[in-house]
Amino acid sequence: MAKKDTAGGRGINTQLAHSGNDPHEFHGWVNPPVVHGSTVLFPDAATMKATQVRSADAHSRSRVQRYTYGTYGTPTTDALCEAVNALEGSAGTILVPSGLAAVTVPLLAFLSAGDHVLIVDTVYFPTRRFADTMLTRLGVEVEYYAPDIGEAVSALFRDNTKVLFMETPGSNTFEMQDVPAMTAAAKARGIVTMIDNTWATPLFFKPLDHGVDISIHAATKYPGGHSDVIMGMVSAGEATWPQLYNTQVALGTCGNSDDAFLVLRGLRTMGIRLERHQKTTLAIARWLETRWQDGDTIVGPVLHPALESFPGHDIWKRDFCGASGIFSFVLKDATEAQAHAFMDALELFGLGYSWGGYESLVTHVYLKDRTVSARDYGGQIMRLQIGLEDEDDLRADIAQALEAARAAG
Ligand SMILES: *Cc1c(COP(=O)(O)O)cnc(C)c1O
Repeated sequence: MAKKDTAGGRGINTQLAHSGNDPHEFHGWVNPPVVHGSTVLFPDAATMKATQVRSADAHSRSRVQRYTYGTYGTPTTDALCEAVNALEGSAGTILVPSGLAAVTVPLLAFLSAGDHVLIVDTVYFPTRRFADTMLTRLGVEVEYYAPDIGEAVSALFRDNTKVLFMETPGSNTFEMQDVPAMTAAAKARGIVTMIDNTWATPLFFKPLDHGVDISIHAATKYPGGHSDVIMGMVSAGEATWPQLYNTQVALGTCGNSDDAFLVLRGLRTMGIRLERHQKTTLAIARWLETRWQDGDTIVGPVLHPALESFPGHDIWKRDFCGASGIFSFVLKDATEAQAHAFMDALELFGLGYSWGGYESLVTHVYLKDRTVSARDYGGQIMRLQIGLEDEDDLRADIAQALEAARAAG
């Protein structure tokens, strides 16, 4: 997991500890100031005029004065954006008010009426809701593809295909996609590629290194890391950065300094947290997998890309350098009542949405939205977010909840 940062040549944890702000730019304080502000004053009328943005191309604005107005960024939001640029190898990063906005803003940036967009069928559900409601209403043709399509995605390309939207592993069921092959196929046709990279974080997968144009993150998850902040981040390579930035300015969907401060604080420890999430999660996933393979009557297949038994494992091994702390498993031949008995019996796992925080969570996965990749998993799918608690305690908790589920059958 301590993959070297190609840009700085230093280890990832070193980079996480030192990137973003320069303490000596603000009296030596280690952390950046949390700047609250709308108005920024100019020294004179000429400077004020020089920095005015009166065209749609805000990106080309003169930088004679670094800060001009709150919606264009503050020293706090810049510190986070620069830290993320270093991690992603991106030309620029925007901060938006939620992970969902990190999906919707780039889609709005690159799609117009009459365009066609391809979205993976295993996408995060609110992304699908946005596509099926707003994008459709704006005259964009939305089409879903199966996650295992690979380079055959090119057969779905049309003359008006503008964006290929990936998410790997898939939400809740963790299917892997062949990002390099799909990205190469899209690039050959001038199609903009985007990926929701929230599961992997830039520590375990760096999309831009694989040719992807735009990397999307719910900073709410691992970057924040403490279930106390909602924020999204979108990073772009050179070619797509001006249009992404101009869209952000046009929409006014800026992130704020308080949240940026929390996310930057989270980033400092993200490497060591992920190391721990990865270790405990794999141990628990392997333990469940063994129970399944030994013929346990309630534990079915485990959906975790780092397990050799998982169909997309080869792709994960080839492209990723780690696995985070969320996966699912099948409660074999179980009823909904048994799934609820499992959830209600858990003592350490909270029943709640989101993930990436320090505490363990469980959700009952809903898959009825899938259109081209729907399949029967042979039971109820339980999604676990493995927190930073001790592995033995979590395993014991799951074991007793499995007995509760069995008893409810
Ligand atoms: C949580 C999540 C989001 C949305 O993040 P919010 O900050 O909750 O809006 C987007 N994509 C994926 C894959 C997520 O898991």
